[in-house]
Amino acid sequence: MTDFSFSASSNFDVVNLLKLQAIENTIQREAKKIDELRKNEELSSREERLREINEKLDKLEKKYRELETKRKKMEDEAGIQSEKIRRNEQKLFSGTITSAKELMNLQNEVKILKESNEELENKILEYMIEIDDVLEEIKEARERKEKLELCISSLKKDLGEKVELVEKRISALNEERKNTISIIPEEYLQKYEELKNKKAGIAVGYLRDGFCSACSMEIPAAESEKMTNLHQIYRCPLCGRMIMVYREEIDRISEEMDSI
Ligand SMILES: [Zn+2]
Repeated sequence: MTDFSFSASSNFDVVNLLKLQAIENTIQREAKKIDELRKNEELSSREERLREINEKLDKLEKKYRELETKRKKMEDEAGIQSEKIRRNEQKLFSGTITSAKELMNLQNEVKILKESNEELENKILEYMIEIDDVLEEIKEARERKEKLELCISSLKKDLGEKVELVEKRISALNEERKNTISIIPEEYLQKYEELKNKKAGIAVGYLRDGFCSACSMEIPAAESEKMTNLHQIYRCPLCGRMIMVYREEIDRISEEMDSI
């Protein structure tokens, strides 16, 4: 069977079926392009690095706060001890202590307090050095973060512009699709949809030099020789798709797609 049971003498240009197919395939390719654009590896690797830097920054800031708390605590402690030393020394030099033992005890206490304070001061100094290092690291991380954020936003802007261009093309193609569909009689459209779903998106081809363009197979001459009417849609006996007789107009479809 090389015919579909379409009602006779539809006077629409059957090439529109091939055009519709070309439009739909182009729309699909363009939609894939958008997916590819959005999978931008450079952008995702930079976003990953930004996440790492943010984590590092959080840790560094936490470390800084902890060191500062410790340093402050020690400074408070040293302050209390200094006050004690001051008071004891006042007492020592006030001339009110008469007992030698009491004097010695007090002198001893001052000595211990001074040693302890010196130890505290050394530790505070160590903390301050550590704090300076952490602050330096924080500064570097913040600078890197800022650069990365700039880079990411410029990549996103660039990507957005590219996506927008493709989206514009898709919407122009959709407009063209609607126009083309409006020309094609309903029964052809139904067959087209049915075959498209059954045959991996290709519903229609053409017969050229005895070959079906959709399945690339040679149709037996006995059958292909009967396919001569330019206005008719035949059925490829090999793949079952719709085919029409080749004409030059068909070659122009892909150019037409490029210009949309
Ligand atoms: Zn075929």
